[in-house]
Amino acid sequence: MRSYRKELTFNLPSRRGFVNITPQVEEALRESGIREGLCLVNAMHITASVYINDAESGLLADYEAWLEKLAPHAPVSQYRHNNTGEDNADAHLKRQIMGREVVVAVTGGRLDFGPWEQIYYGEFDGRRAKRVLIKIIGE
Ligand code: ZN
Repeated sequence: MRSYRKELTFNLPSRRGFVNITPQVEEALRESGIREGLCLVNAMHITASVYINDAESGLLADYEAWLEKLAPHAPVSQYRHNNTGEDNADAHLKRQIMGREVVVAVTGGRLDFGPWEQIYYGEFDGRRAKRVLIKIIGE
């Protein structure tokens, strides 16, 4: 069995945002040379997510509105986590909802997606460099 590891770095200029990282994951898969196996992609930070869904701008706006309803950023004093001096309690909660990682089957050297599936990086406390891990195993 072979394995391949790669880190991607993102530094979003805004507090929150979504990035379609499917092309970068496909590039890593090509670099790995693996044809049959599994591809794990996870956010390496507890205020960012990796998830799979549709690449559709209305849906991305809906996520932003829905997550702000579930865990509004302000007032920051509403969260006990922010008593530590941080202001990112909402980002931890948003990350929990949107998830840490995805696993995609690798078949014939390609990501074996269902219809419309794309891999996204979700940032909830940006304006600093954060990493995503890609690990591919197989043969
Ligand atoms: Zn925090």
